[in-house]
Amino acid sequence: MEEEAEENDYGNDEELNRATQNTISVPPNVKCQDEPKFIVFYSTLLSLFSLFCFRCKKDKPTVKMLRNGTMVTVTQYCDACQTKSFTWRSEPFVFGRYPAGNILLSFAVLMAGASISKVLLVFKHMGLAAYTPRSFFYHQSRFLIPTILMYWESY
Ligand SMILES: [Zn+2]
Repeated sequence: MEEEAEENDYGNDEELNRATQNTISVPPNVKCQDEPKFIVFYSTLLSLFSLFCFRCKKDKPTVKMLRNGTMVTVTQYCDACQTKSFTWRSEPFVFGRYPAGNILLSFAVLMAGASISKVLLVFKHMGLAAYTPRSFFYHQSRFLIPTILMYWESY
């Protein structure tokens, strides 16, 4: 009882600061590279999307997940909605069709001077969804190097 009261007591400045620091506040229209990102577990996504159909509110739709590198696409299949299933993507697209997390991961690895094979090995040990090294080299030659060169020449 005593312990519980202490945990909920934000009268202490340090406790208040800690609670404020952990609160996420993002201004509207923030760019995708600047917004916070999170690690999400399969089971928690499944429990959320299994609750009810997000289109018609009917109970317990079937849920399927499809991976595209670091992005997951969740689709609800509902008896009532049939073909008009509800679909949700975990990341916004950049350049029209590339999941932002995939391009940002490639950019971050290049900027950090890190090794893509080591980074992907960390992801593998963690069970984190990721792309292949081939995608990293494609992003590098198609987007990253041209962008860096363009910036260098205009600077
Ligand atoms: Zn439905």
